[in-house]
Amino acid sequence: MSDGCAEDRLLPLAAAVAAALALVEPVRDAETVPLLDAYSRVLAADVLARLDTPPADHSAMDGFALFLADVHPDQPTRLPVVGSALAGHPYQSAVPRGAVVRITTGAVVPTGPDAVVMQEQCVIAPDETWIELQPTTAARLRPGENIRRRGEDVTAGALLLGRGRQLRPQDVALAAGQGLTTLSVWRRPRVAVASTGDELQEPGTILANGAIYESNRYALIGLLRRLGCAVTDLGIVHDDPLALRTTLRAAAADHDVLLTSGGVSVGTADWVKDVIADLGQIAFWRLAIKPGKPVACGRIGSCLTLGLPGNPVSVMVAFLLFARPLLLKLLGRPPVAPLRMRVMADFALRRKPGRREWLRARLHADDPHGPLVRVYHTHSSGAISSLAWAEGLVELPEACADVVPGDPVDYLPFVGLGMED
Ligand code: AMP
Ligand code: MG
Repeated sequence: MSDGCAEDRLLPLAAAVAAALALVEPVRDAETVPLLDAYSRVLAADVLARLDTPPADHSAMDGFALFLADVHPDQPTRLPVVGSALAGHPYQSAVPRGAVVRITTGAVVPTGPDAVVMQEQCVIAPDETWIELQPTTAARLRPGENIRRRGEDVTAGALLLGRGRQLRPQDVALAAGQGLTTLSVWRRPRVAVASTGDELQEPGTILANGAIYESNRYALIGLLRRLGCAVTDLGIVHDDPLALRTTLRAAAADHDVLLTSGGVSVGTADWVKDVIADLGQIAFWRLAIKPGKPVACGRIGSCLTLGLPGNPVSVMVAFLLFARPLLLKLLGRPPVAPLRMRVMADFALRRKPGRREWLRARLHADDPHGPLVRVYHTHSSGAISSLAWAEGLVELPEACADVVPGDPVDYLPFVGLGMED
């Protein structure tokens, strides 16, 4: 490889993540946000249930509330309808034995009855003054039938949502169901993103000779937003140490993380490491991973700096496997290992052991022995198309040599890396 350093001097991913995690402190500034601004925020405190839900016994069906003891097991039962309980409009008195009350889904079950029979299972008088039940229906009724008991969903005092939980829509709904209007969450980590390279141009400009459109920021900013970070877009920075220095120094002053792509290897225009080392420190920068060997991790003041390589595939892999665990810690979330599935290779690969490697992959047809995984037709780390095609990554550990079809391999679906819904 071009940096000319021995493979055995490369840091394995696990050691790199552990070393970098030691440099990261979770953001610990809490703020209170309205529920509708709480999606993807991380809870700063446990949320306890304030009420039982449902707050009373509710009907789960449209039907009739009755006393089971009034129903004959071996002959039709005719019962008078003495009133109705609608959702939001409870029946106000106790129901007398021998009578039923019409009830709708979500209405409070009135005092007395111990079951609700679905209206589809009753013969209803045309004027709705009585219902009749057949013995076959009666035989299936059980105490509490079609009744959602008070506190059956949530009991007052129970832990509703734990500190460190990154809120999904259903979590916010659970809080709303408790009558809460705000939640205490951690400030979002502030992450600044820059792409470096003299060859890079913004989409929307006319492409000059020798140039390419910049794409890495468009992946990184999306990934960061999805993770719940507050992103500052620093745009494209040229391969110019002075320009880099000015941009990185200013951004480090008011961000938790500085994420760059490109310019981190050993080419003559690769200034990112030098500039970071000059403004702060580089902790390490050579990882035993493929793609993405040069990943510079360091600090400028209290700002964590992550210099990812320039190739689009390297950027994505380094972000998902290296940067993501660090960002999760910063967000205040507990560590989560990516979801791994053991599947069968439907491809062959010549490989030299040494670096942990990821291939762009997709599961396809099930073999009788389990799902098969195939990989993109090119392994080039420049192939953005491979990322758009893939639904996950095959991970080959450091010691893995050649892969032949039928070999068991680990598949990491993008969903388990927070990259897809
Ligand atoms: P570097 O790490 O700067 O040597 O870049 C490695 C390769 O990635 C080169 O082919 C660059 O042109 C390409 N590259 C670097 N940055 C970007 C970017 N932001 N978008 C697309 N390609 C890039
Ligand atoms: Mg470059």
